[in-house]
Amino acid sequence: LFISLEGIDGSGKSTQTARLVNWLEQQGRAPLRTREPGGSPGAEEIRRLLVEGDPDRWSAETEILLFTAARRDHLERTIRPALAAGRDVVTDRFADSTRVYQGATRGELRGLVDRIHAAAIDVEPDLTLILDMDPELALSRGLARDSGEDRFEDFGLPFQQKLRAGFRALAEEAPERCVLVDASADPDTIAATLARITASRLGL
Ligand code: C5P
Repeated sequence: LFISLEGIDGSGKSTQTARLVNWLEQQGRAPLRTREPGGSPGAEEIRRLLVEGDPDRWSAETEILLFTAARRDHLERTIRPALAAGRDVVTDRFADSTRVYQGATRGELRGLVDRIHAAAIDVEPDLTLILDMDPELALSRGLARDSGEDRFEDFGLPFQQKLRAGFRALAEEAPERCVLVDASADPDTIAATLARITASRLGL
């Protein structure tokens, strides 16, 4: 199964990705844990171009191309080989992050994101777990935790509210693969919920 975890900054994706991978291992499976932007040597190099340095270095359009170039490499070098070997893949972010961060926050760019994805990204996750929570809670939990690597200074509440709305809209747009999960609960409860949803997708 190809599984992605999505959500706003500070929603606990990294923690829950790790916990879901552990759970899959406990089921006797051989999951691969990966992340975006990054997940392959080339894509990690592109991540540095995106995340480090002057945040205004790229136009919004160039940024979409860079995220997509990284995703294409991640798909070719990491995700597809693992799926072909019969492994589950659990990724912390995938195409939906670009749809929402680059597309939904600047509505006029969503069409460009979709056209570029159509040309370059021919896989969707089987299951997308969207960690949904109030940005105020996420900001207090999240940005305190992983300062340093964030590329935007404008991670203010209005931006995060737009992201949350974008992810919620996406869950309605693609209900066959997206599940909205309440991420304000405690980590154990969230992990149990994600395991239950995944078990049902796997027929366990
Ligand atoms: O999820 P992670 O913290 O690794 O993402 C790295 C940075 O890139 C974060 O600041 C995140 O908000 C940002 N990002 C973005 N657009 C994406 C994916 C991530 O701006 N499509």
